[in-house]
Amino acid sequence: MSSLIGNERNKQILKRLIARDRLGASYLFAGPDGVGKRLFALAMAKAVNCERNRENTGNQRGDQGCDSCPACRRIDAGSHPDVQTVAPDGVYIRIAQARALAEEIQYRPREGRHRFFIIDQAERLRDEAANALLKTLEEPPPTTTLILLSARPDALLPTIRSRVQRLNFAPLTVAEMQRYLENNYSRPATDTALLARLTEGRIGQATAIDISDYRRERRGMIELLELLATGNDRFRLLKAAEYYGKQERDAFEKKLDMLLRLLRDIFLIAAGRSKDDIINNDEYDRLAALASRIGAARLTGWIEKFDVLRANLAININRPIALEALLLNIDG
Ligand SMILES: [Zn+2]
Repeated sequence: MSSLIGNERNKQILKRLIARDRLGASYLFAGPDGVGKRLFALAMAKAVNCERNRENTGNQRGDQGCDSCPACRRIDAGSHPDVQTVAPDGVYIRIAQARALAEEIQYRPREGRHRFFIIDQAERLRDEAANALLKTLEEPPPTTTLILLSARPDALLPTIRSRVQRLNFAPLTVAEMQRYLENNYSRPATDTALLARLTEGRIGQATAIDISDYRRERRGMIELLELLATGNDRFRLLKAAEYYGKQERDAFEKKLDMLLRLLRDIFLIAAGRSKDDIINNDEYDRLAALASRIGAARLTGWIEKFDVLRANLAININRPIALEALLLNIDG
């Protein structure tokens, strides 16, 4: 548990429970995707079932798995018989999955000290499947703990919510996130700093972003904004509309999100906010130049127009035409 970052209060609570051998029957880890709910659950399972920890007793027993014994490695790989995860099969967690789980839970630990069953996206447990689990949630065998993970705890059935102890998880602060990335990835500090700001405290996202790709695509977006700020090169604007408009919808959406993040940064600079307040602060100088060239009043209009385009993507618009109309009349 000690190597986990952020959500300090939850960490202290869980560490105490583990140290006193007082793990409860079922928990709900609630909080946005990517903030470490799953990492916490697995860390608990490793701390309790680690083979090196088992050799120690009482005060010597750590609150941290060693990450290298066969038990820890199998927990990480998802192949430990006492640490199992159930996730939705399709849209929902099916009744057959719930029944199989309720059945499996009745067994004593097969190899470890304590069994953990993790239910991923627990809000996708509906009616019948949930009913099959209610009794299990309330009274699993004493050597078993269920951990429900959910980014939408309010969508959980009330009958489930009332049977579990809830711990809320929050995104990490930028500083916590940066410390985590520095400890776990061998990347230059400028990269970890940008990643920490970009992912807004969601560890799970940090591994999904390729920072060199991000920088390359961002350069293109900044050039587009510089072109827009000058506003007099219709030919290049048309070319840009054609180039970006032709991209697949997902890629197009990603670029728009990037552009909107840049525009918000530029707006914050124009509004006099400091370098620490902006996400893309490694490009501060170019963004500051854009801020003074475009000005806060025009920026508001631009953000509004790109927001509308972003929203309209849901209704299958003709992207090249819509983007062309926007770029050529950005101040219109
Ligand atoms: Zn271990």
